[in-house]
Amino acid sequence: MGHQADEFLSPHVLFMPIPLQSPVNCMLKLAELLCMADIHVTFLNIDHFHSRLLQYTDVESRFSKYPGFCFQTISDGLPKDHPRCADKFYEMMDAMENVVQPLLMKKLRSGSLSSKSSGNKALPITCIISEAIIGCALDISQQINVSLLYFDTISPCAVWTYLCLPKLIEAGEVPFKDNDMDASIGCVPGMESFLRRRDLPHFCRVHDISDQSIQLALKEARQLPKAQGIILNTFEHLDKAILSLIGNLCPNLYAIGPLHSLYNTKVAACIKPPEPNSTNSLWKEDRSCLTWLNAQAPKSVLYVSIGSQVPMTINQKMELWHGLVNSESRFLWIIRPGSIIGETSEDVEVLERHTKERGCIVSWAPQEEVLAHEAIGGFFTHSGWNSTLESIVAGVPMICWPCYVDQQVVSRYTSMVWKIGLDMKDVLDRVMVEKMVRELMVSRRNEFLKSATETAKLAKVSVSEGGSSSCSLDRLIEDIRFMSL
Ligand code: UDP
Repeated sequence: MGHQADEFLSPHVLFMPIPLQSPVNCMLKLAELLCMADIHVTFLNIDHFHSRLLQYTDVESRFSKYPGFCFQTISDGLPKDHPRCADKFYEMMDAMENVVQPLLMKKLRSGSLSSKSSGNKALPITCIISEAIIGCALDISQQINVSLLYFDTISPCAVWTYLCLPKLIEAGEVPFKDNDMDASIGCVPGMESFLRRRDLPHFCRVHDISDQSIQLALKEARQLPKAQGIILNTFEHLDKAILSLIGNLCPNLYAIGPLHSLYNTKVAACIKPPEPNSTNSLWKEDRSCLTWLNAQAPKSVLYVSIGSQVPMTINQKMELWHGLVNSESRFLWIIRPGSIIGETSEDVEVLERHTKERGCIVSWAPQEEVLAHEAIGGFFTHSGWNSTLESIVAGVPMICWPCYVDQQVVSRYTSMVWKIGLDMKDVLDRVMVEKMVRELMVSRRNEFLKSATETAKLAKVSVSEGGSSSCSLDRLIEDIRFMSL
């Protein structure tokens, strides 16, 4: 599909992320890569999210060097004090549909989203890149007659389970309610030999299919094949089988991952002199943990983080802490402000006091740098897709404690397919934590380090000049240019 125009239009992409830390981070990285290729970008942010981004990051000044880039903010109509976190995801998605879509259509129809940065000439949108879960993006692209590319920022193995959801429901395998969680799931092609109930996305654990979470995933599965292409954050060597399965339903795929690594490679090649480390993080990074790491032996420290959304109860936190201490490994633990349900400042103080000998606790870290540090030997993770890819690039084996969305299937892949970690799914007690930490960091250390190092090499090849992800990005850029003809 091309824009109806009788003259050449400069390519102009409208980005539509979901207003959460990791998806926005991914979309900003891709937006910047497009800017470097002289493509105009309008980046749509919910105004509440945008204010936080401006408060904590230098994003505006960083993008000011691209004349074709601009942010557009829009209201989601939710109350000012709405938490806008993964727990309230479905309210945020309703707001996208009911408030953001009409406002955005109004702006698009009035021409107020046309970039003016090329002389005085207004540039209409020629392509939309939207997170796949945003149902209204297809409607919007059809109404303004422009191409739509979905960027599914979750893991491709989970995207495949979404695409198989109609089949799972038809076969009576979904939904199920926390019973017989080890039962095999036979009707997801490519995963027959290892997939169990507990490895499916969390929303399959519901009473009936009218549940909003299932309906949203079903809608995504119906809409994915209708886009002109799908951008995925993975690389050929890691997800060859899955890419080929998804490709049967959605033939035009762009596998451009690990995106953070592709981004770092391109930025290093394009931006001279290099800029200081920039971040799209909504928390202040505590760099003192790097000094602490400098004093530790190589590969001796377990890095512990559950990302930007997942919460933990106090009981889970104490079980984890006892398990870590009993394992006798050193650890660097990220405890995000507000992430422990019901925690008091006294709890924090007691834990910090008793951790001093063995570990370091900070509230937010420069994770990519931490994972690349030679003292890190393992990563206790919630299997968020960005954390997983960052760990893969750094060659760090993982212990997985997944919580929701794609994390359950990612943790199964980490242990059974990529063989770069252990899956601790659905259990968090001190005995299990100690056992797994000892296995990852001591008894099976060499085996895991070997497979993680090999996978890291393949990831790096894919983002280097001529590598599969680098070539996919070039093809994406060419196709976006073509869409404006
Ligand atoms: N992260 C970080 N510092 C921290 C913890 C996490 O910069 O102390 C970043 C991490 O590098 C990753 C993101 O937060 O890019 C987490 O994304 P992921 O997809 O793993 O999980 P989510 O936060 O979406 O649950």
